[in-house]
Amino acid sequence: MPIATTNPATGQVLKSYDPMTAEQIDAAIERADLAYRQLRGTTIVQRERWLTAAADLLEAERDETARLMTTEMGKTYASAKAEVTKCATACRFYAAKAAEFLADEPADATAVKATRAFVRYQPIGPVLAVMPWNFPLWQVMRFAAPALMAGNTGLLKHASNVPQTALLLEDLFRRAGFPEGAFTTLLVGSAEVDRVLSDPRVRAATLTGSERAGRSIAQIAGRELKKTVLELGGSDPFVVMPSADLDRAAEVATTARCQNNGQSCIAAKRFIVHADVFDAFAGKFAAHMSALRVGDPMDPDTDVGPLASEGGRDEIHAQVRDAVDRGATVLCGGEPPAGPGWFYPPTVVTDLRPEMRMWSEEVFGPVAGLYRVSSYDEAIEVANGTAFGLGSNAWTRDPDEQERFATDLDAGNVFVNGMTTSYPELPFGGVKNSGYGRELSALGMREFCNTKTVWVGEGAATAGAGAHAE
Ligand code: NAP
Repeated sequence: MPIATTNPATGQVLKSYDPMTAEQIDAAIERADLAYRQLRGTTIVQRERWLTAAADLLEAERDETARLMTTEMGKTYASAKAEVTKCATACRFYAAKAAEFLADEPADATAVKATRAFVRYQPIGPVLAVMPWNFPLWQVMRFAAPALMAGNTGLLKHASNVPQTALLLEDLFRRAGFPEGAFTTLLVGSAEVDRVLSDPRVRAATLTGSERAGRSIAQIAGRELKKTVLELGGSDPFVVMPSADLDRAAEVATTARCQNNGQSCIAAKRFIVHADVFDAFAGKFAAHMSALRVGDPMDPDTDVGPLASEGGRDEIHAQVRDAVDRGATVLCGGEPPAGPGWFYPPTVVTDLRPEMRMWSEEVFGPVAGLYRVSSYDEAIEVANGTAFGLGSNAWTRDPDEQERFATDLDAGNVFVNGMTTSYPELPFGGVKNSGYGRELSALGMREFCNTKTVWVGEGAATAGAGAHAE
C-alpha cells in the first residue's frame, strides 16, 4: 500500500511519502532505545509536565488537526474535533493519575516471611505501536499517553493512508518536551513490522487493527517471545428487548452504527430485536438511518462522510450484495451513489441467515444487520454467535434482564441502555477474535510495565513500599 494522503471525498492523492530505508529504521530504533534510557530516569512530575503540554498543544491546535484527519480519512470535521479533545482529556487523565497507577503496592510482608514486600511498576523499553486509520489520533493516544507516562518510548507504524497525522503525533510529543526519540513515527509499510518487532531493542508491540494483522503480529511476537496487546475487529450486538425505550434505542442505534461513517470497531453492527417489538423498532431505525445526510465531511450539516478507501467501500457493498443475492431484504440504502468519493448510504438489511457473509463477518461501514429473535436465550445465542467479542449493547428496563445481560454477553464490555464508547477511566479491549489485553484505565498503563515483585529480608531500611513515586 503506498504511503500517501488521498482525500476519500474526492479520490485525489494529495501527498505521498517514500518509505523509510532499513538504515533509517535502524537509526529510529536506536534513538528510541537511547530515549528510553533517558526517560526511565525522569520523574513522574517531569513526564506529567510534558504530557500536560501535549494536551495544551492539542487543544490549541484542535481545528487544524481535525481538518487534517478529515482530509486523510473522511470523518466529519465535527467528529474529528471531538476526537482531538478526547485525546487531550486522555493526556490530562494519565498525567494526573500516573503517580497513583505506578505507586508501589504493599504486600503482606509477614505472610511471605519478609521485612517488607511490595510490587513496583517499571517501564520495559521501546514499544512498537501498529495503528489503524479510523481514529487516527485517538487510537495512537490511548497507547502513547500511558506508555510515555510509564517511562516507555513509542515507535509508531501508522496506517499507510494517514501519514500526515502520524507525523503530526511525533511532532506533538517533541514540541511538548519529551526527549528526542521518545516517540517516533516510522513511515513504513506493514512488511517492515517483522524487522522492527524482531529487533532486540524493541520490547513489545500493540496493534489495533484487523484480525488478519493481529494474527501476523502475534506470530512474529510469539517467535520473538515479546508481549503484545491486540485490539482487533468486532461485530457488536445491540439487543432490544420488549421493555426497552424504543424511541431512544432507535435513535442511539443509528449513532452507534453510523458514527465515524460506520468505521468503528465498537460500532453496533448486529441489531438483535425481540419479535414483540421488531416491527416497531425496525420502522423507527430505518427512518432514522434514511434521514442521515451523506456528503462532504467538512460540511457541518453532514452526518456521514465517505468511507476511507475505495476498497473499503467496495467490500461493504459486496457484503450487502451477497446477503441480497441469498435472500436478504434491504429496508433502506444498499446502493453507492454515482460520482467521485467513496460514499455509501446508511443501509439496513434484514432476513439474514448464517450462510450470508454479513452473519459472521465484520461490516466496516454504515450498514446494519437486523435480526428477529423470540426470547432472551435466543438473543444471547445470536449475540454471542460470532467469532468476535469486543463490545455489546443491551436495551431493557427490566432490572433482572440487565443483570443477566451483564453476565451473559461474551464481550469485553456491556453497555446497558446506552452505546458502547471508551473512557480513559474504564478498561477497553476484547475477548475471542477481538483480541487480548486492555487499554485505558490503570490496566492499560500496566500492560507495558514490568510488574516487579520486591522482597526484602533482614536489614531492611525503614523506607517502605510507596517510597517509589518517581
Ligand atoms: P488493518 O488492515 O489491520 O490495518 C491496521 C494496521 O495494521 C495498519 O497500520 C496496517 O498497515 C497494519 N497491518 C496490516 N496488515 C498487517 C500485517 N499483516 N502485519 C503487520 N501490520 C499490518 O486494519 P484496518 O482495515 O486499517 O482497520 C480496521 C480494522 O481495525 C477493523 O477490523 C476494526 O474493527 C479494527 N479496529 C479495532 C479497534 C479496537 O480497539 N479493537 C479499534 C479500531 C479498529 P498498512 O496501512 O500499511 O496496511
